[in-house]
Amino acid sequence: MNSLISKDLEAAAQLLLNGNVVGVPTETVYGLGASIYNTTAIDYIFELKKRPKSNPLIVHTSSIEQVQKLTTAFPDKAKQLANYFWPGSLTMVLPKSATVPNQITANKSTVAIRIPNHPVFLKLIDLVGPIAAPSANPYERISPTTAKHVANYFPTGLPLILDGGSCEKGIESTIIGFDDHEVIVYRLGSISVEEIESIVGKVTVKNEVNGTYTSPGMVLKHYAPITKTIVTNSIEEYIDEFRNKKIGVIRFKDDSTFPNVAKQLTLSKKGDLTEAAANIYAFMHILDQLKLDFMLIEPMPNNSLGRSINDRLKRATHL
Ligand code: AMP
Ligand code: MG
Repeated sequence: MNSLISKDLEAAAQLLLNGNVVGVPTETVYGLGASIYNTTAIDYIFELKKRPKSNPLIVHTSSIEQVQKLTTAFPDKAKQLANYFWPGSLTMVLPKSATVPNQITANKSTVAIRIPNHPVFLKLIDLVGPIAAPSANPYERISPTTAKHVANYFPTGLPLILDGGSCEKGIESTIIGFDDHEVIVYRLGSISVEEIESIVGKVTVKNEVNGTYTSPGMVLKHYAPITKTIVTNSIEEYIDEFRNKKIGVIRFKDDSTFPNVAKQLTLSKKGDLTEAAANIYAFMHILDQLKLDFMLIEPMPNNSLGRSINDRLKRATHL
């Protein structure tokens, strides 16, 4: 069965209600969606992605009422954050209710949940109910930000990939949890630590690349292109040293061109980190198609969304 890219929302809803897995658009990255109530479809997500069963999925809902049905506690800080960021790309880890199947949460007592901010995805959730969806990439690969990226990863095996355009945010949601009412950031993402702190005050970030992981998905090698990837400020030196190699370059804002480069891309000429985040995976997908010897990526300034992008780049280059 070839995976079909389509804008037919009703067809996608029907497929999900019949227990299929469908490619779904979100504002962060594309997902592999299934109704949370269909455990066969949930199993198939893990199989398609080759994702370890110990790595739980995020549940997407379209209302606070649904969130309350799926959780047993909603701390004050969670309410404040929900008011400010939902619908949006903030995922909260909360104590789960019995309604949430254990396969979704890897038998944990918590569920990671959010209300996404994508009109097509929200309509789909309204028709189907809560949808569990991890990113629509094979385990450890870069997340897809267009329907075409999903079809490239899964040319067969999905009855439908719902096309909702290019993802506005372009990197995954930020995942937070609560430890004795303290906010803990488990995964840096498309909402910056600074934005969260502007609502609830100081938070703790526990996703360090060399630390231990409270969030099971934060393994070191993740978000990796096939092409060997080097993150460096010394792009010119690499190009000089490897003159006979086929090299691709991604820069933050500078678009002055290097000689002897097969393809060079600039994330945001105006130096806007939001624009850079929206482009980073899409650009890595472009370079990954070119059969390069390696790609060189300039690190971002390490604040706001630059910190989230640098986190992904570190994981993309871990050997
Ligand atoms: P993905 O859907 O591919 O963006 O990955 C979802 C991530 O959410 C996983 O890698 C987990 O790290 C995280 N996650 C999901 N459920 C939980 C949970 N109950 N507690 C902590 N982290 C979670
Ligand atoms: Mg993922």
